[in-house]
Amino acid sequence: MEFLNQTDQVIFHTYKRIPIEVSAAEGMYLIGAGGERYLDFLAGIGVNVLGYRHPRLESGFVGQIQRYTHVSNYYAQHPQVELAKRLCGLTGFEKVFFTNSGTEAVEGAIKLARLYGVRQGKTDVWGCSNAFHGRTLGALSLMDRPGYRDGFGPFLPHCGELQFNNPEDLVEKLSQKAAAVFLECIQGEGGIVPVTQEFVDTLKELRNKFSFLIVADEIQSGVGRTGKFCAYEHYGFTPDIVTLAKPLGGGLPLGAILTMDSLAGLLQAGMHGTTFGGNPVACAGGCVVLDELTESKLLERVRERGEYFFDGLIQLQKRFPQKIREVRGKGLMLACELTFDGQALVSEMLRRNIIVNLMHGKILRFLPPYIVETAHIDECLANLGEVLSAHREKA
Ligand code: PLP
Repeated sequence: MEFLNQTDQVIFHTYKRIPIEVSAAEGMYLIGAGGERYLDFLAGIGVNVLGYRHPRLESGFVGQIQRYTHVSNYYAQHPQVELAKRLCGLTGFEKVFFTNSGTEAVEGAIKLARLYGVRQGKTDVWGCSNAFHGRTLGALSLMDRPGYRDGFGPFLPHCGELQFNNPEDLVEKLSQKAAAVFLECIQGEGGIVPVTQEFVDTLKELRNKFSFLIVADEIQSGVGRTGKFCAYEHYGFTPDIVTLAKPLGGGLPLGAILTMDSLAGLLQAGMHGTTFGGNPVACAGGCVVLDELTESKLLERVRERGEYFFDGLIQLQKRFPQKIREVRGKGLMLACELTFDGQALVSEMLRRNIIVNLMHGKILRFLPPYIVETAHIDECLANLGEVLSAHREKA
């Protein structure tokens, strides 16, 4: 494909591109250069939750562009304050720091954890095995997968991994030295792997004992993706810090750190900052996303559609027990783990104009927009069924 070749000539080759030349997008569909329409179950990697070109979102952006697009954080800005009020209202947290991206939200949370720890002789910041927190060196310091880390060390000192979903490992490793534990309640890039209640309960008990912070990384699972505003709500605990991003800016770059006044107060004027973080156009979009979430009862919809999709995937697993190892996830954050390399399957789905993401060679990930209809899900499942049925392992 000529355009892809041109891309590879001038853009860093850090992504294996999906071979579509996107010329437009609308609702659930990406539209290729020849006008072909692709049903999109990846949604900009979990970003475009209202679908493409949502009219209310576009008016929100345009309205703010016509007021101002950037003035800097030296000024108080209405869209930031409006969005922060909504976020605090939805979560019960008291303060928000806006960033440009997920990894910057994680970075800020690590700095906050260090500040908190330093005052009490706590040095250690923990991540979990198989986690993903971003591409900056701080985030990488909390991760263990060699594919993301190899060649980029040395990493931050006093950082390490806890075995995800292994409560004994928590008991063994966590101590008074722990300043913070970063946790994805549903690991996203790790392959849509939910945390167990037992792991969370043990972590909560240890937090009571050692007073470390729990940082819930809700960058992929938050803002309604799992049918609750944040995925930690499924597990009956309140983290000390939450990081958000992906859908938060309605498709523009925006992340956030949420916490209580007492922790936020550790960062005084000048200690942390960003030129672009909290961009007013992105924040205006964020207000629309959250308003739609509440006014259009989108969370309910995510739960309903999510269950419908999950059940459909389970039916497929029953039909093809030798080909589907596991179906997992919550709401519209779902995965179907295959027993074989799924590249040919995903390419065939694309040939049928359906975009499904393949992770780690064998995991199909589904992160559709929240506006997905049962008819779209049916179309995806029917095609998946046909492709699975036709699939033969090479001898
Ligand atoms: N944390 C989680 C759980 C993520 O899924 C991601 C991105 O996929 C990040 C952090 C990093 O976010 P960003 O790519 O916006 O830096």
